[in-house]
Amino acid sequence: TVKRLGGNHYTFYSEDMNAEGYKRFILRNDLEKAIKEDQFIVYYQPLVDIDTNKIISVEALIRWNHPRFGMVFPSEFISIAEDSKLIIPLGEWILRAVCKDYTRWMQLGFSEIKIAVNFSGIQLQQMDLVDSIKAILDEYGLNPNFLILEATENVLLQNTEKVVKDFELLKAMGVKVAIDDFGMGYSSLYYLKYFKSDILKIDREFIKDLSTNLISSQIVKSVVNLSNDLKLNLVAEGIENKEQLNCLREMNCKFGQGYLYSRPIMVKELETILKMGMCLPAV
Ligand code: C2E
Ligand code: MG
Ligand code: MG
Ligand code: MG
Repeated sequence: TVKRLGGNHYTFYSEDMNAEGYKRFILRNDLEKAIKEDQFIVYYQPLVDIDTNKIISVEALIRWNHPRFGMVFPSEFISIAEDSKLIIPLGEWILRAVCKDYTRWMQLGFSEIKIAVNFSGIQLQQMDLVDSIKAILDEYGLNPNFLILEATENVLLQNTEKVVKDFELLKAMGVKVAIDDFGMGYSSLYYLKYFKSDILKIDREFIKDLSTNLISSQIVKSVVNLSNDLKLNLVAEGIENKEQLNCLREMNCKFGQGYLYSRPIMVKELETILKMGMCLPAV
């Protein structure tokens, strides 16, 4: 059977498809409609100053509240959205949702908080990426200063010159750029040289066994020093326990994110925390 998908996309559904393939098939079919019907929810995960527990920024992490499957995580639909190019309208939907939330936070008096938004490779290849970001910020009359663009290393490999140029334009506008999942890509040091990013997020892979694995701890220590030399703000991702945090403190790693501080939370819950003084409880 051939089933009609959104736009001009067709896909095949066969009776012997396994459960996972079937779910993918349904998600692919439903994606375009889901964007129109606002079935997505932005969760926010705080990023804190390790010394003070102050929330410096929050990372927008998208979830799909699917009418049939319930909460669906990005690992299950971002690649589908990329394959169908629907990641472009989905990315625009996410940026608009973030702008709406930031507008409210400004009114509540939290204008200093920054919001990090993940961009996938397909979005970075978009010819009018910078104009489309600017147009959405203008719709809401927002100064781009609050926005951080997060991109994982491997998505920077294609069309390097175009992406380097776009980052420069974005930075001139006031948008900050973060390299996500640092250390997991193919040429991590190359990115540092060419993509003049503001923030480096060292991947959870190096944090998870930080307190027990000498290699991980030596790598993190070196990346802390490298970041200091390059004047980059280093963030440790995926901090889950006190032992990891103690190691990071000893190494003078300045910023952290992870379940120990907070899981990604709904906007109402975040606003409650912000109203209580923008600090997370000491850990
Ligand atoms: P990421 O940008 O590296 O985001 C971090 C992921 O790690 C998030 O998963 C977060 O919930 C999870 N995480 C945070 N702290 C911890 C921790 O202490 N332990 C563990 N085990 N995990 C932790 P999530 O939300 O499922 O997102 C997965 C990936 O999907 C993201 O990785 C990002 O690459 C992508 N993604 C999420 N939201 C968006 C979006 O709006 N647009 C695009 N293009 N990609 C997105
Ligand atoms: Mg990220
Ligand atoms: Mg990451
Ligand atoms: Mg990741």
